[in-house]
Amino acid sequence: MGGLLAARVLSGHFGRVTVLERDALPEGPEFRGGVPQARHLHSLATRGSEILEELFPGLDGELADDGGPLLDQTADTVTEFPSGRLPRFRSGITMRAVTRSRLEWRIRRRVEARSGVRFVSRVEVTGLLAGRGAVTGVRLRPRGAGAEPEELGADLVVDASGGGSRAPRWLSELGYHPPRETVVDAGLGYASRWYRVPEDFAGDWKALAVLPSWPNNPRGGTLRQVEGGRWTAVLTGSGGDYPPTQSEKFVEFARSLPSPLIYDAIRDAEPLSPAYGYRRTANRRLHYEDAKLPERFLVLGDAATMLNPSYGSGMTAAALACEALDACLSERRNRRPRSLRGLSRRFHRRQVRAVAPCWTTTVSNDAQWSASGVEDLDPTRRLAHRVSEEVMELAVESPDTVKTMFEVKNVLKHPTALLRPGILLPALWRTAVPGSRPLASKRRRQRSPVKHPRPGHTGI
Ligand SMILES: Cc1cc2nc3c(=O)[nH]c(=O)nc-3n(C[C@H](O)[C@H](O)[C@H](O)COP(=O)(O)OP(=O)(O)OC[C@H]3O[C@@H](n4cnc5c(N)ncnc54)[C@H](O)[C@@H]3O)c2cc1C
Repeated sequence: MGGLLAARVLSGHFGRVTVLERDALPEGPEFRGGVPQARHLHSLATRGSEILEELFPGLDGELADDGGPLLDQTADTVTEFPSGRLPRFRSGITMRAVTRSRLEWRIRRRVEARSGVRFVSRVEVTGLLAGRGAVTGVRLRPRGAGAEPEELGADLVVDASGGGSRAPRWLSELGYHPPRETVVDAGLGYASRWYRVPEDFAGDWKALAVLPSWPNNPRGGTLRQVEGGRWTAVLTGSGGDYPPTQSEKFVEFARSLPSPLIYDAIRDAEPLSPAYGYRRTANRRLHYEDAKLPERFLVLGDAATMLNPSYGSGMTAAALACEALDACLSERRNRRPRSLRGLSRRFHRRQVRAVAPCWTTTVSNDAQWSASGVEDLDPTRRLAHRVSEEVMELAVESPDTVKTMFEVKNVLKHPTALLRPGILLPALWRTAVPGSRPLASKRRRQRSPVKHPRPGHTGI
């Protein structure tokens, strides 16, 4: 995804762009081995879809024609917080719910159609070529019996090879120190299974979400309708409490969630796939911004910043990084002479700022999972945890707070928006005076009714 978006941006600044891909690229929106995460639900945050629409006008219309439902994230989703069910109301914060394979395929077709862009598939990048302090191209190994290694020269090389990027090793081979690394691991595991939406489904929702809560409940899940009349059900467990992939155990795990919402939806639904597991979910950042690097070499997307996938922000972070790349290259246009000198440093610093909202949100939440309980937290983090618990309490009663939370989640607002007085003061008040309720929230908490997915179902 990062590579496709980078190619789109680069094609606006360079005469020729070559996309090198290890996989054979399928003709249609099909799964391929190089992107194993495509078996799992891919939420596109609103900010990400805005950037995609700017880069590929009309893309959302194509996805709609493909049958991707549009969902209002607060009206069409039933969200169960540890503190209760969120109020449902139309916020205008929408999401086009499509599979990762379809989104990628639609984007690839658009990039392929741009003049000057060439795709070379079934070729693996194995190293960098360099000279006089700059990267000058890449070494390649075409896949297939008997193929000889090759070299390809380039004015600029962008690594967007995902979480398995070998750029640190390639840099070491050239005599550079690999970048330092920050890892924050919540020990989260995924299991996803696809179902057919029942013909007689009469629910008033398009998605369900059950959130985990540190430290007592590591389990959560999401279920969402995507194109083709399918549901994707994702179960998650943090702190090493991984969801199983055996069919019966998968359903049992769904039953063990703090709310029966997802279990009730899937227990009689027709499965369309086995359950797929995934465990490489740590937040991982390689600090290219402060590494000494050769010129003309950039690293973006998961290769630079990998985010816990359960927050659904990886593709948006890649899109934000590509927006930053476009800005850096546009500035270069105004420079005399038009050179690529310093681009690497400027881009990597800008990328950090661009993806900071995504990184801050995931890491501040996930850091807690390395502590075994509240008593392990230092006083500042303990207070922050208490306040965040109170914000969640408040959300159950306050559509205004819910809207801000979804704006932050969708990267429409910076995470500090949750610190505005209307949210922070009531939360602080309740933290300071346990059991108290600020005047604004004295309303009785109501559970909005949810239409049962099918006749005969109970418990929602
Ligand atoms: C389980 C899971 C669920 C996720 N859910 C979401 C979600 O809901 N929302 C969201 O926004 N993000 C989600 N993500 C993250 C998202 O998939 C990535 O952030 C996003 O795809 C950007 O990654 P990328 O472009 O850097 O790498 P990728 O999309 O992984 O692409 C890397 C590409 O490089 C190719 N490649 C690798 N090495 C080489 C090589 N040496 N030579 C040539 N080609 C090579 C691969 O074949 C692949 O095509 C999820 C991730 C996981 C693991």
